[in-house]
Amino acid sequence: VTESVENLSMLIDGAMVSSDTFSDVINPATGEVVYRVPDCSREELDVAMNAAQRAYREWRVDDDRRREILRACAKALENSVDELARVQTLEQGMPLAASVQGIQGSAANFDRYADLEIPVVTVKDDDEALIQVVRRPLGVVAAIKPWNVPIGQAVGVIAPALRAGCTVVLKPSEYTPAATLVLGEILRDVIPTGVLNIVSGSGEVGSWMVEHPIPRGISFTGSVATGKKVNAMAAPDLKRVLLELGGNDAAIVLDDVDPDVLAERIFWTAFRNSGQICMATKRVYVPEALHDPIVASLARIASAVKVGDGMEESTELGPLCNSMQYERVKGLVADAIKDGATVAAGGNAIDSSGYFFEPTILANAHEGMRIVDEEQFGPALPILTYKTLDEVIDRANATNFGLGASVWSSDTGRAAEVAALLESGNAWVNTHSQQHPNAPFGGAKWSGVGSQNGLYSIFAYTDPQTTWTSRRALTAGA
Ligand code: NDP
Repeated sequence: VTESVENLSMLIDGAMVSSDTFSDVINPATGEVVYRVPDCSREELDVAMNAAQRAYREWRVDDDRRREILRACAKALENSVDELARVQTLEQGMPLAASVQGIQGSAANFDRYADLEIPVVTVKDDDEALIQVVRRPLGVVAAIKPWNVPIGQAVGVIAPALRAGCTVVLKPSEYTPAATLVLGEILRDVIPTGVLNIVSGSGEVGSWMVEHPIPRGISFTGSVATGKKVNAMAAPDLKRVLLELGGNDAAIVLDDVDPDVLAERIFWTAFRNSGQICMATKRVYVPEALHDPIVASLARIASAVKVGDGMEESTELGPLCNSMQYERVKGLVADAIKDGATVAAGGNAIDSSGYFFEPTILANAHEGMRIVDEEQFGPALPILTYKTLDEVIDRANATNFGLGASVWSSDTGRAAEVAALLESGNAWVNTHSQQHPNAPFGGAKWSGVGSQNGLYSIFAYTDPQTTWTSRRALTAGA
């Protein structure tokens, strides 16, 4: 720990606010402290909530102004890509190029929500009445986000919630609060006082946010276990919830694929961001006859990947984001090996002061192994075999997760028939992990409640309001 570690501040009621106590932010590539961030107190959270509540009265009124301000946010973000990307990589570990690309995408996201047309549905328009359905903002939205893609997660709620007319109090993960606090400082110049507030702290602050009487909407992304707690805490106050939770996405490979082509296409859908993506491929089902060639091909790719500090240009995969996740992945891989999986590539932690783990392919995996039944959220992929399509569809669906699933085949029609039977919010053919800005992204079963992206996010941060104007004149004798 050096004296030069920077203390960051929270954005509360338009001011950059420090605190009495701080937490360290660790660089997962080195184990060193890179930033210190304030621990938000209950009193500071109250100030943030009240500021958001006050700002809401004016913010909800003028949609044209909101669109202008979102465009200004896009510009401010574009101008800060390099600075923000560096902070995000230092705290999260992802390769700098991926960090830059993600933040450019977030800037574009602000513009996209500024451009979005929010429809007003006319139900009746005649001599008797004008009846329309408009979207009414929920009010203050409390947003609680995870550590895998901090800026993407933050802008993914800020842009649509602000456009919808809500104001926001946001808490990033305690593992990766730095980039989001810097984002607050950047957006402070363009967003009116109180409209956006960013606080830092642990899960306790998250629970204060959910239980706080002011927010009317909760936007939560994180694990299933915490998502369930959040849902239960929000229920007594009937707060609206948007829950984007974990996944254990199956990829089903049909018998007509070329193993090398398949491996090339599927590999990065599982390993991008070191597997720390909710809708990554997390288990692969292959026909028995294709198991060995697919495993060999995936192992070749995995062994050639350059793992390293995300700040180095040649790095393709960074470390796991934090010691908790690093220990978890180590444990899942060790258990899989103990339970009979064959290591085709990787299998070990990399000896260093950071949280590095070799890209790992586990052959001959089966249900009952924790790495198959649970979400690994790391750079280790189990390969399982199947005999019949009915059987593999049942096995893919035999989980409480339901975020995504994919089917791979040279016959896309046949693959689509299988995909139609998968119990998941996203069903891909010959791809995985992809999202479209106008297509709903959400989970079935325990993977979430509600959807986001484009109008679906606007719907999540609004309720419908029916406006009814009678056309019978109020003048006497009419
Ligand atoms: P967690 O559920 O542990 O944490 C998510 C956020 O909730 C953090 O900000 C955390 O704070 C906060 N939190 C923790 N406890 C509480 C509580 N009791 N009340 C309110 N808030 C609380 O998830 P991770 O950060 O570990 O993220 C990984 C998980 O997120 C994976 O399961 C992954 O699949 C999922 N995810 C889902 C996505 C989706 O869109 N479906 C996208 C990305 C990730 P703190 O960190 O300070 O504890």
